[in-house]
Amino acid sequence: MSGQTHDLVIAGSGVAGLSAAVYAARADLDPLVLEGDEPGGQLTLTTDVENFLGFPEGIGGMELIQRGKEQAEQFGANFQHGTIEAADLDGRPHELELSNGEVLRTNALIVATGASARWVGADGEEELMGYGLSTCATCDGAFHRGDDVLVIGGGDSAMEEALFLTKFADSVTVVHRRDELRASEIMADRARENETIEFRWNTELAEIHGSQDTGVTGATLLSHPEGHPTEKAAQGREVETERVDVSGIFYGIGHTPNTGFLDGTGVERDDEGYLRTRSSDDGRPTAETTVEGVFAAGDVADPRYRQAITAAGTGSMAALDAEEYLDALDTQATQSVEASPTLGD
Ligand code: NAP
Repeated sequence: MSGQTHDLVIAGSGVAGLSAAVYAARADLDPLVLEGDEPGGQLTLTTDVENFLGFPEGIGGMELIQRGKEQAEQFGANFQHGTIEAADLDGRPHELELSNGEVLRTNALIVATGASARWVGADGEEELMGYGLSTCATCDGAFHRGDDVLVIGGGDSAMEEALFLTKFADSVTVVHRRDELRASEIMADRARENETIEFRWNTELAEIHGSQDTGVTGATLLSHPEGHPTEKAAQGREVETERVDVSGIFYGIGHTPNTGFLDGTGVERDDEGYLRTRSSDDGRPTAETTVEGVFAAGDVADPRYRQAITAAGTGSMAALDAEEYLDALDTQATQSVEASPTLGD
């Protein structure tokens, strides 16, 4: 273990982590940002961001992240490749064990580890992920020029994936388990108006066909007129089964927060794994988790809004709360030095 104790470690380098880093660095907290498994977070997998305040023409997700990192570095934030495997948050300072075995000590921690793409649970997905099955159209769409592809999901992610894929694929079929989209009106309208996109309502993906040699070759779909066909089949009700030939399948069914490394710590999470933050003594909301000195920012604590702009906002909140916490620690330390008798007293 290195002898140094950091004032503040920020886990995650997406928009929340970067925003926290800008605020913390400007407050002279010398934050260390651990970049995580997916440096830059979800925005690096997005094409254009049209709703981030201050960019009327839109801005590429990757560019927004690069600018944010540059801004944080300008104020003195340090970046390190690394992912936290386990954390010991009982004592002071907190200890963080990284995946390379290194152990970091820090007085405060901001968890901005975001959320990762969810998998459907269809047969064959473990084998075929990366072989025609993908959770990121921006990353893998260009492999599907002239192909027929499926997009699974009915939210904004699925619409965004489907729209992006129309640049390459001959046909894009959105497979949704109900008969109504969850996506925002603007995204849903764009998808509905695009002639390359078709919709399969009340339908779910049950199995993916193919191999790592051939890639994805097809899929088995289940349908039921009342929706949620897998549930209906489990109840013994009759569902329609159809095999379709496709060479690409993209999952767009949402995300799961990356909070596994907090297992066994006192940091409270909700049923889906999102971090809970606590209220201050006067009842006001804070960015602090249920463990003192551990703060949450971005999607890891936000099952509801999950926007780049809200992640940036909560990043700044976490940094401001961490600053206040560290100031109080400093004051306590100074008072205890002043109160303790010195030689000659
Ligand atoms: P989401 O809104 O939670 O939508 C997930 C979709 O996947 C839902 O339609 C859901 O079906 C379906 N689904 C979930 N689990 C499934 C399963 N096991 N099998 C089949 N379908 C399943 O997630 P999201 O689309 O990732 O969006 C999350 C947030 O990010 C939203 O606030 C969204 O506005 C935002 N976002 C915005 C943009 C943009 O503005 N450009 C882009 C992406 C995301 P049900 O509808 O039946 O629950």
